[in-house]
Amino acid sequence: DIKIITIDGPAGAGKSSIAKEIAKRFGFTHLDSGAIYRTIGIACKKAGVNLENEKEVLEVAKKIRIELKEGKVFLNGNNVTEEIRTPEGGMLASKVAQFKEVREIVVKILRELAKGKKIVIDGRDAGTYIFPEADLKIYLTASPEERARRRYKELLKRGFNVSFNDILKEVIERDKRDKNRKFAPLVIPDGAVIIDTTEKNLEEVLLKIFELINF
Ligand code: C5P
Repeated sequence: DIKIITIDGPAGAGKSSIAKEIAKRFGFTHLDSGAIYRTIGIACKKAGVNLENEKEVLEVAKKIRIELKEGKVFLNGNNVTEEIRTPEGGMLASKVAQFKEVREIVVKILRELAKGKKIVIDGRDAGTYIFPEADLKIYLTASPEERARRRYKELLKRGFNVSFNDILKEVIERDKRDKNRKFAPLVIPDGAVIIDTTEKNLEEVLLKIFELINF
């Protein structure tokens, strides 16, 4: 009986699209851990704090109220769902995510949200640090170029005026920060099923994962 599914991997590997489909199909609650880091990043920017200053970032992270409701994200009661989805939101997130105590706050929020529910969570450390006891761990990856291409298409669709090269640079920079940070870095969790999605579409990846869940 599967209660917790974790999906980890680098930016743009398709984690959140896959997690949403699993949630829909199997009636799980989707927890988007990146959304919480993004919200803390945006809150820090609004507060004008220096993102390299751990103490200042932590103060903001402790003070704010973050809610995930029906696929939307609220910061102190305001809907920030769209605002956090920008390339800047991703960069801000990966900066605040470097700090151990910030990560501890986020883990607490996520564990609280998961209580008594069947969940599918996507992130960087979901299977290693947040829910090491998960029943099914998946590691999704794809080449940096392919991941940048997906991000680029998605951002264009949403009306952002971006350049492919900037997105590729951003993807590579974020990967580096996520893999090299001291605390809870991005690694393949022990026992995870690795799926390289470079040459696969969403349906193919889903088919494989649905098989794993039904097994
Ligand atoms: O997944 P998403 O692109 O929304 O994540 C934004 C950033 O938040 C990541 O690049 C990463 O630095 C950070 N993050 C993290 N741990 C998670 C989820 C996201 O460090 N579990």
